[in-house]
Amino acid sequence: MAQIITGETQLLGVIGDPVRHSFSPIMHNAALAELEADYIYVALPIKPEALAAAIDGFRAIDLRGFNITIPHKQAIMPLLATITPEAEAIGAVNTVWPTDVGWAGTNTDVTGFLSPLKELVPQGRQQVIVLGNGGAARAVVAGCTQWEVPEIHVVGRNADKLSRFAASWQDSPLQPPLLVHSWEALPELLPGADLVVNTTPVGMKPVGESPLSREQIELLPEGAIAYDLIYNPSPTKFLEMAAARGLTALDGLEMLIRQGAAALEIWLQRPVPINTMRQALKAHLGR
Ligand code: NAP
Repeated sequence: MAQIITGETQLLGVIGDPVRHSFSPIMHNAALAELEADYIYVALPIKPEALAAAIDGFRAIDLRGFNITIPHKQAIMPLLATITPEAEAIGAVNTVWPTDVGWAGTNTDVTGFLSPLKELVPQGRQQVIVLGNGGAARAVVAGCTQWEVPEIHVVGRNADKLSRFAASWQDSPLQPPLLVHSWEALPELLPGADLVVNTTPVGMKPVGESPLSREQIELLPEGAIAYDLIYNPSPTKFLEMAAARGLTALDGLEMLIRQGAAALEIWLQRPVPINTMRQALKAHLGR
């Protein structure tokens, strides 16, 4: 049933630049309709220079909460009154809600990343390779640390960015068991890894390419999991080759759903219908 907007309807949203492509309104509005919760969730394009003014304006119009996507996940932090230790450790916020003392922020990407993995392999993983060292890699490293993975290897293409990535955790309460490597180290690392996570956009941009070659995927041991944070297209070339090799392949759709569900639970303070969110997204993506 279509949702009826009344004078009582409250506002939620996602801010970013760009943000019109976001799938979040699809899944959140499906869940809100199912719950008969009188809210509407919209995409709000905000330029970086307008971020502070927008946040003040959100307070003035009593916005009930919002998600944050690129490029505001770090820039929002000084504008918040409180930040959860989890978001502080990652250095990025993706979910904000109002409190008596101002905006509060957290990061639900860790929950989003971990939930499907824990369901797949409750016993955990011993050695993880993270491809890429950007924003999503931070949530993956935090998630793997929380999951008590004893060895996390982050592989990147830019030595400066890699060493800054490693240094950024030095004062963190998380203290991840982290080593960073150049791409050339992969042939040595792959035979020991029981989870490889692609956090680069390769497979989406450019479509049809894979961060690992077929030969590199062959080096992974039996029982390894290939996890691609990309959710569109699915499967990516990386997951297609991993599945053909007999490995378990996991795409990023469930992460997207679970981080969204965790945010909606914060805003509504009640359990949310994850299955409805999943079905709405899959229908939208034609899957
Ligand atoms: P980001 O901060 O821009 O980081 C991207 C990383 O990929 C950087 O380390 C970058 O290397 C590396 N990279 C880019 N192109 C590469 C290439 N051709 N070869 C090797 N490395 C390359 O982006 P992000 O926010 O972390 O997002 C990364 C991906 O995760 C995107 O595809 C996004 O859609 C996906 N994601 C999914 C979810 C979900 O819910 N499923 C959530 C967040 C992100 P440099 O540092 O050297 O530039």
